[in-house]
Formats: sequence, C-alpha cells, structure tokens
Amino acid sequence: MNNSAPIIPIPKCEKVKSYRPGSKEREEIKNEYKKLLNKTTTIPMFIDGQNITTNNIVEIYPPHNHKKLVGKYHKGNELHVKNAINSALKAKRNWENMDFYERSSIFLKAAELLSGPFRQKINAATMIGQSKNIYQAEIDAACELIDFLNFNVKFAEEIYQKQPESTKGVWNRMEYRALEGFVYAITPFNFTSIAANLCIAPALMGNTVIWKPSDSQIYSTKVIIDLFKECGLPDGVINVIFTEPEMTSKIIFEHEDFAGVHFTGSTKVFRSIWENIGNNINKYKSYPRIVGETGGKDFILSHKSANTDEVVAAMIRGAFEYQGQKCSAASRAYISKCKWKEIEEKLIAELKTIKMGHPGDFSNFINAVIHKQSFNILEKTLEKVKSDSNAKIIFGGNADKSVGYYIQPTVILTKKHDFFTMKNELFGPILTIYLYDDNNFDDILKKIDNTSEYALTGAIFAKNRDIIIKCLEELRNSAGNFYINDKPTGAVVSQQPFGGSRGSGTNDKAGSYLNLLRWVSPRTIKENFQNINNYRYPFLENEKN
Ligand code: NAD
Repeated sequence: MNNSAPIIPIPKCEKVKSYRPGSKEREEIKNEYKKLLNKTTTIPMFIDGQNITTNNIVEIYPPHNHKKLVGKYHKGNELHVKNAINSALKAKRNWENMDFYERSSIFLKAAELLSGPFRQKINAATMIGQSKNIYQAEIDAACELIDFLNFNVKFAEEIYQKQPESTKGVWNRMEYRALEGFVYAITPFNFTSIAANLCIAPALMGNTVIWKPSDSQIYSTKVIIDLFKECGLPDGVINVIFTEPEMTSKIIFEHEDFAGVHFTGSTKVFRSIWENIGNNINKYKSYPRIVGETGGKDFILSHKSANTDEVVAAMIRGAFEYQGQKCSAASRAYISKCKWKEIEEKLIAELKTIKMGHPGDFSNFINAVIHKQSFNILEKTLEKVKSDSNAKIIFGGNADKSVGYYIQPTVILTKKHDFFTMKNELFGPILTIYLYDDNNFDDILKKIDNTSEYALTGAIFAKNRDIIIKCLEELRNSAGNFYINDKPTGAVVSQQPFGGSRGSGTNDKAGSYLNLLRWVSPRTIKENFQNINNYRYPFLENEKN
C-alpha cells in the first residue's frame, strides 16, 4: 500500500574525482587495485538470485598483461539460457506490480553504494579487466553509472506523471506497463556503465531481464552482480549469463515471450540480430522492441578560424583516450590546409609526451587494446597503410604484444578523402587526417557527410559564427551528438543524451527519457462517472413540425 505521492530527489551529476598525487582517492584506488591483482577472482553466473557454477572454467587475463591470471568465470550452456528465461518470467509479476517508488529506491541505493563503498571496487575491476587508466575508469564505471541510476529514476517518474487530459465526468489515465515478456540485454566490452545500464533501464520500468555481457567485460560484471545483491534487487529481475552469443540469441529469439533487445556493440552484430528477430517474427506474442547503439566513424572538422591548441587537445583526447575504443572516438579529422603546418607541429610535439603502459602506473595516458583479435586487426591495418602510397603514417605505427596488446597512438595523413581508414570503424588508437582546400569549404562538408555509413558523433572547431551555422545545417544528419569547439567524446548523462542514426543505431538516446519509453507498453484507461443508460443521441430525437 502506498498512501502517499513521494517525490524522487532531484539528481545531480556525480562529481568526477581528480586522483591527483596526494589525494585520498588516489591512495584508495591504488590499494584496491593491488588487492585485486593479488588474487584470482572467481565469477559465477547469476540466475534467479543464485550464483551458478559450471565445470567450464574460462581464465581472465588483463589486456595489458596476458600472462597474469586475475580471474576465472563459469561459462554456461543452453540449459543456463533456458533457466535464465524461466527465472525472468517467474519474477515478472511481482516485479512489475511492485510500487514504482519501491523499485526506484533499490536503484537509488545502488547509486549511493557506487558513490561510496563500491566506487573503487568497480574502478579497479574496470582498470584491470578492460585496461582503462584511472580517469577513464572513474568517468565510466563510477560516475556514468551513478548518473544513469539517479537520472533514470527521475526520468521514469516524469514519464509516469505524463497523463492524458480528462473531461467532465470522465477520468483518463495512462498506465505505463512493462513489456509483456522478458528483455534481453547484450552489452559491449568498452563501457562498464553501458553494460550495467542496458539491463538496469528496462528493469527500472518493471521488466525482467536476461543480461549477456561481453566476454571481455566479465571481470567488472562481477562487481555489478555484487551491487545488485547489495542494493536488494529481487531474485530473477536481472539474470546474468556467460554463454556463447549465437547460441544464446538463437534460443532467446525463438521464444514467444521475447519482448525486446537492448543492444550496444558493433553494427555488423546488430544487423544480424535484427535479421534474426525478423525471421522469427511470427513466433512472438508482441512485436519486440529493438534498441541498438552501434558503431561510429566520428569526425573532427577544423576551420581556419579555429584555435590551434584547442583543436590539438581535442584530437588527442578524442582519438586516443581509452585507446580509441569509444564508439564516439574521433577517427577522421579534416584540417584546413592553411593551418596544417601549425597544427601538425603542435600535435606531434604533444604526442611525443604521451606514455603508454599498464593502468597501475598513473603516468600512462594510453593502455592496452582489449584483446588479441583487436590487436591483430589493428596491426594488420597499420601494415596495410605502410604499403599504400595514398597515405603516410606521420606518428606512431608500431604494435607490440610481447607483454600486453599495445598499439602506439598513430596519426595517418591521407591524400584520399575516402581512404579506407577514413571510412571503416577500426576501434583503436588510429586517427586519419585529410587536408582540405580552404576555398572549397562546402565540398568538405559534403565529403564528411558522405564518406562513412555511420552518424554517431562529430565535432567542428571554428570561431566564425557563419561557418558554425553552415556546419550545423549541412551536417544535420551526420551525427546524433554534435559538438561545437569540443571533442566528440565524453557525453554526460542528462547533459548530452547519447546516440546516433544511420549505421550507428536506433538513436534511442541512452541516459534520457527517450530510452526508457522503449521499455514500456502504455495502457490507456478511461473511466466514466456518468450514467449513460440508453443509446439515443439527441440528433435522433423527433423533429417538431
Ligand atoms: P561486439 O559487437 O563484438 O559485441 C557486443 C556484444 O554482442 C557482446 O556481448 C558480444 O558477445 C555480443 N555478440 C556478438 N555476436 C553476437 C551474435 N551473433 N548475437 C548476439 N550477440 C552477439 O562489440 P564490442 O567489441 O564488444 O564493442 C565495440 C563496438 O561497440 C564498437 O563497434 C562500438 O562502436 C560499439 N559501441 C557503441 C556504442 C554506442 O553507444 N553507439 C557504445 C559502446 C560501444
């Protein structure tokens, strides 16, 4: 019973800690990192509130040191997928019936735990398991996830409060039902916060979920499971399985109660998921919701009126932070010819100061790329570029996997605006630059718009307002997140809702009410208070002669 109308507290974005030398947080994270490194963490699956172990054990090694065993996870099979589905369906009724304010308090508690006792646990696990430096871990695993939790609860309240008009004698209501069935969350390796949010967002709206994380993010998944246990999430609301993706999807996409998929990952995989769902469309009780945020080929355009230092800082942060493994990472830049010498000089000088190595050494800006497959693709790309006369590597270009999967931050200068590294998502620390003629600015805008299949993020640098206005218009559909005089990465929940269209996804804007709307199926309820006791309308009355 809820004899009150509580108000969700007004959220504020979590403050990013600095981790300066001498700070308390620096001491704390160093201790937690060391503690984790010194043990081998066992990670069972999590179904119906139970830890599920199997005989199929997979070892986990950090990307920056492939000889150091840090964890072991229990891999599941078909039976575990089916058990997870049954668990989600069993938990559904109680969960969707639970008062929204009670559901909310579970997630608000999770946010509070992350801000306090879980902060360094999730940061350290993300640093080790996904090779992020402390700053990248802090803005992702701690801050963004805290923001997702706090803001989504507030957005959900706002959605529920949105009600239709009523007239005299009639009360109209909108009930924001959960979807009928279960939701499947498939998550990428590169953001701990996105991984957690893809299952938390549908769950907040009353859905029960099966979550299959990326194999390369299972180490920090363990902390999220611990968080679910600690914040009091009821059994079966979110079920976590470590299973083969194709097999898992086959079982789930053939189930009549499959109600929606919340995906983030590559465009290729998302397209195969959509196709798979389409092929099974006659099997479902409802039309499933398909939400996917996918790849990017994100650009920086620097006009001759731009400030050189700002452009260089944006290129370095935008292209190389987290080794370029952000969907929003700048991977193609268009620089005005007349400014190139100045920009090149500064860019190379700055890149020379960057250190690469493991995240335990806080002087390293760059760490390792996620795994061997990614390393191999990037190494091959560099070899291909070296032998192509249409491009030249002007910085970096080396790869070394003797200790970890290290790819040196690399800058390519190309003569071809549609060179393959200007078009294809590489997902590594590689930035390709094309110089354009200042007299032909309209042409470069067309090239930016047409070169790749993606439309996720993009940034323009200019002081000239007419140029900024022109870019806003001409590049309207080239990016779902558009930046003016800022790098194209680092979207903050509630401030820059995130997502792109074209090949980059369904643009349902994670971290906004728009995403939450995909996880509800509204029921309109009209209640009549008047007595209408015969069918005759006044127009039927006899006319008087
Ligand atoms: P990925 O596509 O390789 O894997 C993503 C998830 O899909 C993983 O859990 C994986 O196991 C699963 N998967 C793989 N094959 C599958 C199949 N056939 N059926 C069902 N699931 C399957 O991506 P990744 O390497 O983990 O992440 C990098 C990609 O994610 C990049 O393309 C990046 O741009 C994208 N990304 C996009 C956003 C965004 O918001 N647009 C955010 C983060 C990452």
